Amino acid sequence: MRIDIVSVFPEYLEPLRLSLVGKAIERGQIDLHVHDLRDFTSDKHRTVDDAPFGGGPGMVMLPEPWALCLESILESGKADGRSKPTLVIPVPSGRQFTQRQAEDLASLDWMIFACGRYEGIDSRVADYFAERCEVRELSIGDYVLAGGEAAVLVMVEAAARLVPGVLGNPESHNDDSFSESNEGFLEGPIYTRPEQWRGLAVPPILLSGDHAAVANWRKEQSRERTAKYRPDLLGGQE
Ligand code: SAM
Repeated sequence: MRIDIVSVFPEYLEPLRLSLVGKAIERGQIDLHVHDLRDFTSDKHRTVDDAPFGGGPGMVMLPEPWALCLESILESGKADGRSKPTLVIPVPSGRQFTQRQAEDLASLDWMIFACGRYEGIDSRVADYFAERCEVRELSIGDYVLAGGEAAVLVMVEAAARLVPGVLGNPESHNDDSFSESNEGFLEGPIYTRPEQWRGLAVPPILLSGDHAAVANWRKEQSRERTAKYRPDLLGGQE
């Protein structure tokens, strides 16, 4: 899988080189390219923004540096033998990023992430590249961040751990909250050693060795937690 990320703060994406995603990069499962948008400006101030048409506060990212940068990425991906990437533009006004979206991104061969700053990117950029890329405008939640970098860290990590071979144990995301094998519900409580810790005991069923009973208990707990915190996920089942 190839991932290109464009930002005016390329250092912000450095954490991707740590931990699980970092290991996947080292193993060659993910080919990560981070680009500085300012390298595609032509004035001495390396300007990437201007005032919004129609007035109002804040600044909007200029379309031309984005076009030059995205065109150079498209050329480089083509030389790499790849075709039509998915262009992800994180925006609070986009479709909600969910576990289903993460699963879908994990199945793609090539993704480009465009990190906005200020009031965001001139909307013509998404329209202009819609022929050469599959454009997805995605929001990670109902709040507004200062830039798209943190949203991209979230989306890349959520997708990368689902790429086959990235997690040590491929079964380990089966019980995850929101996973299809968990009926889309939240995961219930989890425990490890010691059995007694500071006066608190592990639920005895987990020590019973009865796998069917444990599975039933986990299912019940998962349902209870979902009803408590996310009744919307029960989809009319309560
Ligand atoms: N004026 C925009 C609006 O209200 O829709 C907010 C712009 S925000 C200050 C700057 C950038 O942060 C956005 O272009 C986007 O890249 C990113 N961003 C902020 N909140 C986000 C969210 N919830 N999900 C994804 N990206 C977000």
